[in-house]
Amino acid sequence: MAKGNTVRIAVLPGDGIGQEVTAAALSVLEPLAKRHGLGLSTETLPAGAFHFRDAGEAFPEESFRRAQAADANLLGAMGWPGIRYPDGTEIAPQLDLRFRLGLYAGVRPVRAIPGVPVALADPRARAMDFVILRESTEGLFHSRGRGTVTDDMAEETLRITRATTEKLSRFAFRLAERRAERLGRRGRVTLVDKANVFRAFAFMRAVFDGVAAEFPGVDSAHHYVDAMALDMLRRPWEFDVLPTENMFGDILSDLGAGLVGGMGFSPSADIGDDHAVFQPAHGTAPDIAGKGLANPTATVLSAAMMLDWLASRGAGQPFADAASELERAVDAAFAAGLRTPDIGGADGTEAAARAIREGIGA
Ligand code: ATP
Repeated sequence: MAKGNTVRIAVLPGDGIGQEVTAAALSVLEPLAKRHGLGLSTETLPAGAFHFRDAGEAFPEESFRRAQAADANLLGAMGWPGIRYPDGTEIAPQLDLRFRLGLYAGVRPVRAIPGVPVALADPRARAMDFVILRESTEGLFHSRGRGTVTDDMAEETLRITRATTEKLSRFAFRLAERRAERLGRRGRVTLVDKANVFRAFAFMRAVFDGVAAEFPGVDSAHHYVDAMALDMLRRPWEFDVLPTENMFGDILSDLGAGLVGGMGFSPSADIGDDHAVFQPAHGTAPDIAGKGLANPTATVLSAAMMLDWLASRGAGQPFADAASELERAVDAAFAAGLRTPDIGGADGTEAAARAIREGIGA
């Protein structure tokens, strides 16, 4: 990506609150881009369950092609109860994107935002700031669409490869190095596995250990996934970067979201070697869709991750500065009293977006 060129963002709002939170995030991005002189262009692409219902296709090939050609993708949420493929499976173009673009690194930060209630009473919980790194192209999800079912049994197969584990592990250690610099302390990468029971995880651990040796400046450790579920409640403030298998990461990242205010506060990035998709960790929330109640924070923070990633890909320092300012604006808005309905407040989607916009340039 050449510095100074216009960066092209493909926007896939999707279904339900995906539409609402994406619109809110774009309303924040626009003044931010202006203030930092970012050359950004956006293009909105159709995909999702309602598009499937109306046009017969969940993810038109043209949308995929444009998403693939864009510099980055910002996605809302996709899927809807009652709208399914003929075989009964959910409509999830976001999973197709992950697999087709090889987005192996699912980055799920778990950070306590000042002013937002956390689930734990221990005062140290206010210092929670760790990242679940969910491998997103293999593991148990490798079996998606490939499982076999007979009258008497069903079977799905988990896959762990050396190539992807090495890439995920390197990604984890590099992320820990960057976080160590920003947070002013030594980085620590903890692989979350089940190596005591499954050979696939013993293999994953051996590959991880090989990569760990390349990064003597970062501590490395392992933790069994069941113990991690416990320790994410007992002492989550002690963790830093947690790479893990796809299904484990799926589950632990929802637990992480629950620790810091819920799904509306949990951003995510799915990153590969050449492409990336940024989206809130939540789904389409049919129960609140269309009511203006959705919390856009997760999407706004995902947009900040997108700007930071673009900066790391050569878009230039103003993108990194804009990312930091956006995160600060979110923190400042909640610290000043913004309270969205999901944490018992009355500030809906637009009020939240407005409060964050007001923090830009403040
Ligand atoms: P998926 O399977 O796609 O993850 P889901 O229906 O299981 O979707 P979500 O849509 O993520 O789960 O959300 C579960 C519930 O959390 C919603 O029904 C909604 O009440 C709440 N929720 C999720 N996201 C938000 C948000 N941004 N703002 C407010 N509440 C939210």
